[in-house]
Amino acid sequence: MKFYNTLSGEKEIFTPNQPGKVSMYVCGITAYDYCHIGHARAAVVFDVLVRFLRFSGYEVTFIRNFTDIDDKIIKRAKESGMSSQAVAEKYIAAYYEDMELLGVLQADIEPKATEHIQPMQDLIQKLLNTGHAYATPDGDVYFRVRSFPDYGSLSGRNIEDLKSGARIEPGEAKEDPLDFALWKKSQPDEPSWSSPWGQGRPGWHIECSAMSEMYVGLPLDIHGGGQDLAFPHHENERAQSEAASGKTFVKYWLHNGFVRVKSEKMSKSLGNFITIRDIFQDYRPEVLRFFLMGKHYRSPLDFSRENLQESERSLKRLLQTRRQAESALENQKWNAQNLPQDMTAEFQSSADLWRKNLEDDLNTAGALGHLFTQNRLINRLLDQKSLRKSKEGKQLLTAFLHELDQLAQILGLPLRDPSKMLAELRRSKAERNTIRIELVEQLIAERQKARQAKDFEQADAIRDQLSALGVTLMDTPNGPDWDVD
Ligand SMILES: [Zn+2]
Repeated sequence: MKFYNTLSGEKEIFTPNQPGKVSMYVCGITAYDYCHIGHARAAVVFDVLVRFLRFSGYEVTFIRNFTDIDDKIIKRAKESGMSSQAVAEKYIAAYYEDMELLGVLQADIEPKATEHIQPMQDLIQKLLNTGHAYATPDGDVYFRVRSFPDYGSLSGRNIEDLKSGARIEPGEAKEDPLDFALWKKSQPDEPSWSSPWGQGRPGWHIECSAMSEMYVGLPLDIHGGGQDLAFPHHENERAQSEAASGKTFVKYWLHNGFVRVKSEKMSKSLGNFITIRDIFQDYRPEVLRFFLMGKHYRSPLDFSRENLQESERSLKRLLQTRRQAESALENQKWNAQNLPQDMTAEFQSSADLWRKNLEDDLNTAGALGHLFTQNRLINRLLDQKSLRKSKEGKQLLTAFLHELDQLAQILGLPLRDPSKMLAELRRSKAERNTIRIELVEQLIAERQKARQAKDFEQADAIRDQLSALGVTLMDTPNGPDWDVD
């Protein structure tokens, strides 16, 4: 297995610190608003990574934190008249709802910053004792960036360049504009904790350093997050952790690329963000998940409704084949015929390539492509009537479906109940196109009656009516079926 390590700028062979075990920490959300598609991307990328590492036999301890105290949360609390805690709880609950629909598994440990104030203070004290930090008379504590000579190397920044862009804000008693806060004195109306340096609250970066070391020890095998976290957040985490412990903080740094809208990064600050729940109004969660895996995680991903619809069509193709295969397994009479071995070999090689793609820096787009190779083979099997009727053909088809199912499952795509899922995809598309499902079903029933009464003129008229609504009617051996154009 190989991963691109942001620190070295190269793909490296993955060798965890302890054989067979992986510790992985991904920075979670700051809980002050609903998650947007950029958050969804990071969540899905690292969800696939965890699933794939486990599938590959690793025992994974996965930590994803919640930042539940922060300037943005305090600001939101003041605006809304809620407490900071209530704001954080509200958006953490919303996060869980979104992630469950998106098929993102919960992490093994999901620590909240406010529940780990003591370990953070201990770490800050350690940095003070070793001269890597200093407290100001006001009650702030800063990290002394120049005490960590390797600062900037994770995000590829030069300390002199950083210095020219940094400045000391009024009221800050920093020694150097580069220094960042470990502990902040709080205002009287803000949440605060007592500390050796006065009433205050932790800076943002210290929580990940303290909580990761506390739960899994150093070094972490994998530390992940969105590309925008590399600087300053991860750079600062690394400086704190390595300065305090003298150990390597992280072996492999993985960062996913941005989601873009019309070539611009989707972000809160640019105001061009679309929340996950906005999308769930119009599309099935599985469609969004499929879309998010369609590009390599390090590449930018261009969001548009057209691209989502393309993903919806692709997912439907997998489900339709599966539904057809399941009905063939139920309804066909099977008797022995000859069976080509090459198809099994082709199927197996596609499964191998699926795995190789994921092993090569988590190439989900390539892995998805191999699901479609397998889908084509299943279709080929279904098209060969003689094969379809053989006992071996039945076994082969069952084995293919089972394998495809497993591979899709690692990507978090549920294919197991194709009829139900197709009906849900159809419902969401009908709703987007303001087609009333009850009306469609009523018209189809009327057409059936007309056909039974041999009133074909009326039956055709109803078909035209459905077509004008944007509905395609298909007469299948199991009766009429329909879809949205
Ligand atoms: Zn973090």
